[in-house]
Amino acid sequence: MQQFLQNPVFTVISQSAEKLNTSVFVIGGFVRDIFLKRPNTDIDIVTLGSGIELAEKVARALSPNLTVSVFKNFGTAMFHYNGCDYEFVGARKESYVSTSRKPTVETGTLEDDQNRRDFTINALAISLNKESYGQLIDPFNGCADIERKIIRTPLNPDITFSDDPLRMMRAVRFAAQLGFTILPETFKAIIRNRQRLEIVSIERILDEFQKIMATPKPSTGLLLLDKARLLELFFPELAALKGVEVINGKGHKDVFYHTLEVLDNVAAKSDNVWLRWVALLHDIAKPRTKKFIEPIGWSFHGHEYLGSKMVASIFKRLRLPMNEKMRYVQKLVLLHLRPIVLIDDEVTDSAVRRLLFDAGDDIDDVMLLAHADITSKNEVKVQTFHKNFERVKEKLQEVEEKDALRNWQPPISGEEIMQTFNLQPSREVGLIKDAIREAILEGDIENSYEAARDFMIVKAQELGITK
Ligand code: ATP
Repeated sequence: MQQFLQNPVFTVISQSAEKLNTSVFVIGGFVRDIFLKRPNTDIDIVTLGSGIELAEKVARALSPNLTVSVFKNFGTAMFHYNGCDYEFVGARKESYVSTSRKPTVETGTLEDDQNRRDFTINALAISLNKESYGQLIDPFNGCADIERKIIRTPLNPDITFSDDPLRMMRAVRFAAQLGFTILPETFKAIIRNRQRLEIVSIERILDEFQKIMATPKPSTGLLLLDKARLLELFFPELAALKGVEVINGKGHKDVFYHTLEVLDNVAAKSDNVWLRWVALLHDIAKPRTKKFIEPIGWSFHGHEYLGSKMVASIFKRLRLPMNEKMRYVQKLVLLHLRPIVLIDDEVTDSAVRRLLFDAGDDIDDVMLLAHADITSKNEVKVQTFHKNFERVKEKLQEVEEKDALRNWQPPISGEEIMQTFNLQPSREVGLIKDAIREAILEGDIENSYEAARDFMIVKAQELGITK
């Protein structure tokens, strides 16, 4: 802790507060993370005077050109200095009424300010005042909860969660991020108050959800969300993956638990949050495509197509970016079975070429996902799959080296077809262009300009087009 308190900015804050004849404390996540030895660059400062006035005084003392952003409506001010964000606010007391989401805020004491915090571990404060510099103020035994790895609300959990239901998501997020347990009393209160999540905006919910997705083992948070029955409130498609149906003694995998396994497998190999979203959504259409077919058993035919279609509506509802990130998720959901199909079939050059062509630069991610998708309780089966998977990988590399199909464009453009045969943009141009691409991918002709040009002339003749 000494190391943090020697931060020269804290000394300046202390001196500035003294000049303003007020008290000041560092509070919240930053203090928690000192004890957890986690790096944190968001420093919250609470004063018993005006946060704005103090911030301006500190900034002037630190550097004459430091810009302070002031949010008058919230009574807060912040600046960025030496890689950290410092936010200043006056201590406040919050009171909620059940008919409104927004609390009434009034000036309060340090105790009031600690009382309005979500968890005991987030309510710790350290004095920056001269006479008590460095003293910890821990009214709810937050330090002991850090030791015991417990998430617990400082006051009555029913009131805490009902006042601001986002705190239920935050409880799960902190548990997942820190590897803590939510105290059973606190957890029961989450279940009791779960419906209140409806008053929270989807943006705030997703902010927490994305933090859960970014943890090293996202299944921990997702299982808690499911257990608290929060998941079904904002992500019904995911909750619908749960359960196993049995007909004539034949069951299928529980898609929810399988999905979590795949997600963890991907998370162990990649920090790309959108690839993790692909894992989360790869089987999302299984419930809608599920059929029992005698004598084969369960089929989910076309779930990759329908799943890829569902991505847009899910992204829209969850206010996720509807841009190239979404298109990447759609594409990978659509392609997720392709390497597995190659395992089952005799691996032909043309199938490998097609996969390379369709996946383009995302081929490594497609392969990572497909590998992560191999989950089974049968170790021998998994081993065989992995071995065959390696063969597919080798083949991919061979074909890639030979044909360079990543980001490949067929050697003859639509423009050239139109010029050669004096055609206007038309169906025929598309037909010839597609035929050239198919012939190369199938391996019927060589991947070269000359071969493609000869093939174009033959194809055009077939269609009754001459030069
Ligand atoms: P992280 O930086 O990982 O998000 P954090 O605890 O610093 O963790 P912030 O959202 O920055 O999280 O919040 C800072 C502090 O503000 C928290 O430690 C907590 O004391 C308080 N806080 C934030 N959100 C709430 C809330 N919804 N209800 C009560 N207190 C909150």
